[in-house]
Amino acid sequence: MAAEKTVLFLVVPCYNEEEVIVSSAEELEKKLSGLEKEGRISGRSRIVLVNDGSKDKTPKLIHGLHETKENIVCINFSRNFGHQSAVLAGYLYAMDKCDAVISIDADLQQDIGAIDRFLDEYDKGADIVYGVRNSRDTDGFGKKVTSQMFYGLMRKLGCEIIPNHADYRLLSNRVLHALSEYKEHNLFLRGLIPTLGFPSAIVHFDVHERKAGKSKYTLRKMLRLASDGITSFSIKPMHIIFNIGVIAVAASLVNIIYTLIVFFSGHTVSGWSTIVISIWLFGGLQLIATGCIGEYIGKNYIESKQRPRYIIESIESCDKNLKLAPQRTDHETDINR
Ligand code: UDP
Ligand code: MG
Repeated sequence: MAAEKTVLFLVVPCYNEEEVIVSSAEELEKKLSGLEKEGRISGRSRIVLVNDGSKDKTPKLIHGLHETKENIVCINFSRNFGHQSAVLAGYLYAMDKCDAVISIDADLQQDIGAIDRFLDEYDKGADIVYGVRNSRDTDGFGKKVTSQMFYGLMRKLGCEIIPNHADYRLLSNRVLHALSEYKEHNLFLRGLIPTLGFPSAIVHFDVHERKAGKSKYTLRKMLRLASDGITSFSIKPMHIIFNIGVIAVAASLVNIIYTLIVFFSGHTVSGWSTIVISIWLFGGLQLIATGCIGEYIGKNYIESKQRPRYIIESIESCDKNLKLAPQRTDHETDINR
């Protein structure tokens, strides 16, 4: 009996992408139908467009795409929840309907030619295929330097992040099920996914310039993501602050001895500078330490509320009663590590 063809879902987060979404969806459509004609994927494969609370014409455009193409599914968030939540919503929607999912940005900066190689690795048994960009030439100088510093820092802090891998990746059905067990609010998928285990592979791809529109990753969103990445995966910053505190206390002991010697020798006025320096130094250190601790307490506070990570306003799909796709059964998922 011929093996069942892979049901592939493409997950595309979209935020204010009116300039590119129609042409990108058409290109992805072409790619899917090409793969289907080659017999590589099943006709039940879909493109899932996740509208992350766009304020431009994106919702209207993707609704129109869904109306004309039955393999296009639209998920509309009630507001902007962020790229990571949009990717996760697509993953969780696809979870019980597909064999594998590939997430890709709406601007198609990531080369869709790599999808064939993602599938090759999947067919060879990889459950996770990481797309790793060949160069960062399309990034500005600032983005290049900050992202390299960020990847370096994350690795130093003990997070198994894959350098130059963003969110262009393939996940098998069972990885999606494992991922769905992680209920954390502060989502940093590229740090979380390598901790899941499972056989994995890397595929290198070229990055193109954005065809139209501006980057939706503002500096504020990038800093938020970096902060989520660091504080969701490492408590080392707290250890570093603690160690600085220990050194500072040791230094202040020396300072106290010095101040006492000066005091007993009768030159009390000269202590003024020491006091002022100490006040500023310790005031600053305390603020840093409090801020760092506050970040973790804040995260605990949010996690303890168990708020939903996103709210779906509507789903538009032609698949009324989609049956479960055949799942891979070669080895069991173990998420109880
Ligand atoms: N995006 C999103 N929500 C946001 C910001 C971005 O869904 O709040 C999507 C965006 O539409 C795109 C992807 O995330 O599909 C990557 O964004 P962008 O291409 O602007 O980032 P860059 O390539 O500049 O890092
Ligand atoms: Mg982009």
